[in-house]
Amino acid sequence: MPKPQNIDAPIVMVDHASLTRFSEDSAYKSECPICPNGVLLIYRENGVLQRHDRCVSCGQQVFYLDEAINGEPLAPFKRTPDSSEIS
Ligand SMILES: [Zn+2]
Repeated sequence: MPKPQNIDAPIVMVDHASLTRFSEDSAYKSECPICPNGVLLIYRENGVLQRHDRCVSCGQQVFYLDEAINGEPLAPFKRTPDSSEIS
C-alpha cells in the first residue's frame, strides 16, 4: 500500500464547524478539506473528543480550534510539540 500523500504534511488548523459534514447521519464526520474523497472521523480518548484528527484517505493531520462539536466540549488545549503553531 502506498504511503498516504499528506502523511508528513504540516498540520492544518481548522474550525470543525466550517467543514462540510460527510453525511447527514453524523454531526462529527467531515469531508477532508485537502483531498477529494477523504474523511475526518474525530477521535475520542476516554470518551473525550480529541483536537487532533487525521484524514483516512490522504493522511493529512488537522487540529480543531472549536470549543465544542455538536454541543460536546473538545479536549482542552495543552502544550504539545505543535503548540508553537497554535496562537
Ligand atoms: Zn484527505
